[in-house]
Amino acid sequence: MASIFTKIIEGNIPCYKVAESDDFLAFLDINPNAKGHTLCIPKKEVNKLFDLDAEIYAGLMEFSRKVAVALEKAVPCKRIGMSVIGLEVPHVHVHLIPLNTMEDIRFVQKVTLSPEEFKELAETISSHFEG
Ligand code: AMP
Repeated sequence: MASIFTKIIEGNIPCYKVAESDDFLAFLDINPNAKGHTLCIPKKEVNKLFDLDAEIYAGLMEFSRKVAVALEKAVPCKRIGMSVIGLEVPHVHVHLIPLNTMEDIRFVQKVTLSPEEFKELAETISSHFEG
C-alpha cells in the first residue's frame, strides 16, 4: 500500500508545500516540534534512509540543505537541526527543525498552528528557496 507521503506526492492528500524538484518534495510537518518544522522526502518510496541508492541519498541531502537555507531565512532561530527517524511513516523523510533550545528537537514537544499560519509559513519559506 502507498505510504501517506506517496499519497501527498500524488496529490491525494493535501500538504503545505515548501519546495519541489523532479525527485524530492518538502512540506511542513503537520504536528510540528517547532514553527517551521519541515519534512524533505524522495518521491521514490523507500522505507529506510540507508537503503536509498547512493545517488538519491546524496540528492536528498543536497535538497535538504537548500530547504534548510530557505528555512533559516524565513524562521528566526539559532540554527536548523536535522534528524531522521521514520518510526511512524515508513517513507524516508528528513526532519528539518528550527532550533532555539534543545527541547525543539525533542519529538514530545509540539506546537499548534492554524491552517492560515501553516499556509503563510509554507509560502514564506518557499519564497526563499533557491532550487
Ligand atoms: P517519524 O516517522 O517518526 O519520523 O515521524 C513522522 C512525521 O511525519 C511526524 O513528525 C508527523 O507529524 C509527520 N506527518 C505524518 N503525517 C503527516 C502529514 N499528512 N503531513 C505532514 N506531516 C505528517
